[in-house]
Amino acid sequence: MGTTLKAKRLAPSAAPAATIRKPRSVSVPDRLVLYGRAAGHCSFRGCPVSLVQHHLEQTSGNFGETAHIWAFSVDGPRGDEDGRPEDPDTLENLILLCPICHKLVDRHPARYPVAELIQHRAEHEARVRQAVGVNIEHKALVLTLSAKVSDQSNAIPIADIQDALRPRYVCGEAFSIAHEMGPDESPEAIRVAALHVSRQLDAALALFERHGAPPIAVFGIAPIPLLIHLGTKLGNKRESLLFQLHRVGGWTWKTDGDPVMFKPIVKLRDGRKDHVALLVNVSGRNGIERLPESYGDATVYELAPADREPDRFLIRRKEDIESFRRAYAEAIAEIRRAHDDPAEVGLFPAVPIPFAIAIGTELLPKADPALVVHDWRKDKFLLVMKVNT
Ligand SMILES: [Zn+2]
Repeated sequence: MGTTLKAKRLAPSAAPAATIRKPRSVSVPDRLVLYGRAAGHCSFRGCPVSLVQHHLEQTSGNFGETAHIWAFSVDGPRGDEDGRPEDPDTLENLILLCPICHKLVDRHPARYPVAELIQHRAEHEARVRQAVGVNIEHKALVLTLSAKVSDQSNAIPIADIQDALRPRYVCGEAFSIAHEMGPDESPEAIRVAALHVSRQLDAALALFERHGAPPIAVFGIAPIPLLIHLGTKLGNKRESLLFQLHRVGGWTWKTDGDPVMFKPIVKLRDGRKDHVALLVNVSGRNGIERLPESYGDATVYELAPADREPDRFLIRRKEDIESFRRAYAEAIAEIRRAHDDPAEVGLFPAVPIPFAIAIGTELLPKADPALVVHDWRKDKFLLVMKVNT
């Protein structure tokens, strides 16, 4: 009996499938997840409003709005942008906002397109994860090295480090190595710095050891040979994330522009089989004529970008580091093959900071040759130190 009644009641409202409109409803679990991810705060960039208590009376309550990134209706704000999900009420289409920010973004959809809102949400959620510090898998240990002739401050602001790590990582335990280089960057001064850096790095690695195996993010401002030395000490057992200070935009890797590829090493001169020099020309170009006399009879190779001239600002993307690591590892392997595992290779680097560190991390201790690291000074190369001995 009851069944018949129900069926009868339903019958008049049963419209053809095409005109059925899904009611607006965000599921309770989704709503909870959204509030949790946003820690109950407005996700709009820079808006500090708590959505779980009134800003004056401090009384508890729900003052938040689950805003649609693509509007619920195609005619609504951003509703006609590409990529609109079939179900507009799913989590990925929602952003938790205060009523004022909600109005703002819906009244000015051109100023706040989909990508912009997704970015606001990502930044906010990353900040929340960082604040509560529970996302251990995405924590990076941070190592800063600053060793320059001190005519300016080389401290790297923590905000810059956090920006550079986002959105993949948050800043975990940090360790700073600062070394006063004194009045010059003479080879002696750099060797003294290397000893200091080694001791400090041992302490840093011991500290990091207690934090499991997150990658180590390295931010360095130091002479190139010192960074190569740092790389050999870090090794490649643990993943390292490398950064550099860009001309604009701090330490954050760019996502635009063409990736830089490297060509296999080119032999610039055939010389002695047991005496080898490697010019690494990435940030600038050094030729055979710049080699010290002691390399007058050496076989000389060059590692350089494939289709572009070396340039100080060539490197923009973090993928460029991976390309370089591969090309450099292949270069060392090729030299080992062609020269029957030479005891040492003269290294003449013109490289950006992260590549200098990678030159060190990629060397296989004992198996790979020692590098006799030179540094270009004004008008000549000076021998600074040997690494991987
Ligand atoms: Zn807001």
